[in-house]
Amino acid sequence: MTQTCKAIRVYAYGGPEVLSYEDVDVGTPQDGQIRVRHTAIGLNYIDIYMRTGLYPLTLPSPIGMEGAGIVEELGPNVTDLKVGDRVAYASQPPGSYAEQRLIAADRVVKIPDAIPDETAATMMLQGLTAQYLLRQTYVVQPGDTILMHAAAGGVGLIVCQWAKHLGATVIGTVGSAKKAELAKAHGCHHTILYQQENFKDRVLELTNGQGVNVVYDSIGKDTFMNSLECLKKRGTLVTFGNSSGPVPAFEPALLGKKGSLYLTRPTLFDYINTRENLSKMAAELFDIVASGTVKIEVNQRYALKDVAQAHVDLEARKTTGSTVIVP
Ligand code: NDP
Repeated sequence: MTQTCKAIRVYAYGGPEVLSYEDVDVGTPQDGQIRVRHTAIGLNYIDIYMRTGLYPLTLPSPIGMEGAGIVEELGPNVTDLKVGDRVAYASQPPGSYAEQRLIAADRVVKIPDAIPDETAATMMLQGLTAQYLLRQTYVVQPGDTILMHAAAGGVGLIVCQWAKHLGATVIGTVGSAKKAELAKAHGCHHTILYQQENFKDRVLELTNGQGVNVVYDSIGKDTFMNSLECLKKRGTLVTFGNSSGPVPAFEPALLGKKGSLYLTRPTLFDYINTRENLSKMAAELFDIVASGTVKIEVNQRYALKDVAQAHVDLEARKTTGSTVIVP
């Protein structure tokens, strides 16, 4: 039976005002799909790139990449799930800003009993990202020193805790003294207020002029060039986001001049591209969260109808840790 529910739709790119709260038809699960009733929805910076058109949508479009909830209906040929299962996902195409949605069954994972829905809903996209950044893109080793930008953000707090657990020394950049405290309480050994201090100078000072093994840079335009300067010879720059805007055109010969550096621009969806990869990465993430080694800090909550305010606050750098949208 077709259901209707409240959901957010985007009809044109723009500011938070383009997030339209309305009644939509959920539809009936097709082959391999399930219908999920969300209990919690995750807010991510990628939602802003999609709302503004930096990452194009097919308009009009649903929005939101992450959620957790209960399986309410199975389409044909879904064998691994049953009605009533608790599931979570970080998945394309967008559509999590909704009370209910249809989604491919092979893109969701069952949530272990030890993990509450709200935690699961906010840790999938940011936590799976932390997994691939630290364990696949550059494999962090005990004794490494890493630089994590936006260390008090959603991805940031997870990376700091996990990297410390892996035996790395963690240097984090943050936008305020309060964020510095929070990052330090989550495994960051040294914090740099990058709007007040030159972070490259501070990193070189903290590493006795050596630089770090890897920089995880999600800020983009404002930090990219200085991030390169923070690396050891043959160090790795992982540019994985554009919070300040996309990185401008860049001359690869510079990587040679700075010391045979590596540069990569990864995307989560290329790491969770198969069911096997998704399951393995999610299992590792669930284990490290269930063990208490990595805590998911849900520091903001907004009702679904108020999601525009969540976007305003995320873009204004007012949030810390993870943010849940309550359907
Ligand atoms: P965050 O919670 O980290 O929020 C973004 C933070 O970036 C802000 O809080 C702010 O922290 C910092 N920032 C610096 N400059 C700006 C600016 N000009 N405008 C806004 N914020 C700025 O978000 P998420 O954890 O959701 O995501 C972090 C980053 O990781 C994003 O860039 C996102 O796109 C990227 N990402 C990439 C993925 C991938 O696979 N490639 C997957 C997941 C996330 P402060 O005030 O401390 O500077």
